[in-house]
Amino acid sequence: MDVYISANAFWALLISAIEVYKRECFGLLLGYRDSSNIYIVEHAISYQTAQRKHTSVEKNSRASKRINKFLANLPQLSMIGDFHSHTGWGDLKGVGYPSAQDVVDMTPENLSLIIVANDKRRTAGWQYNGDGTLSGTVDDYHFRIGAYYLDDFSRTKRANIFCPYAIGFNAKESQQKVLLRSASAGPRWLRSKP
Ligand SMILES: [Zn+2]
Repeated sequence: MDVYISANAFWALLISAIEVYKRECFGLLLGYRDSSNIYIVEHAISYQTAQRKHTSVEKNSRASKRINKFLANLPQLSMIGDFHSHTGWGDLKGVGYPSAQDVVDMTPENLSLIIVANDKRRTAGWQYNGDGTLSGTVDDYHFRIGAYYLDDFSRTKRANIFCPYAIGFNAKESQQKVLLRSASAGPRWLRSKP
């Protein structure tokens, strides 16, 4: 199973995880499933009424009923799953695999994205990992995004994530840095980072 993440959705996932960092975010994935069974995640919408805790997040059922009803009226957008974050800092690392409760919450045909956000130890470019996840750093955080679904026997499986934008983002970022360095550097860029 392959999952494509748009540039829009990629940033929305990261920002959503950062907004509530050290607590977990929760939100909906909007997009479609194409003819070859590939999930295309076009939008990631953060759920503002989710009850956030350090180790779990619960959605508000009345809010989710309202959203589902609203989305049912929009033929061009369909809900293809949800996302939430697992966070960690210091020695307490957030883990990528779904918790027992995450597995209980999974439903057939629905994608479940987990964004693991941890303190950054060192800068790393965005890359696809052998286990199908996508990882990299932005600012002070290290992210790893994994996509899970239930197979025909209701077993939890990990999908392969593709996000050409995130991979290209490294190239763009380093290009931009070169440009900034070659231009007469302003004081902001002269400050060295530890
Ligand atoms: Zn979880």
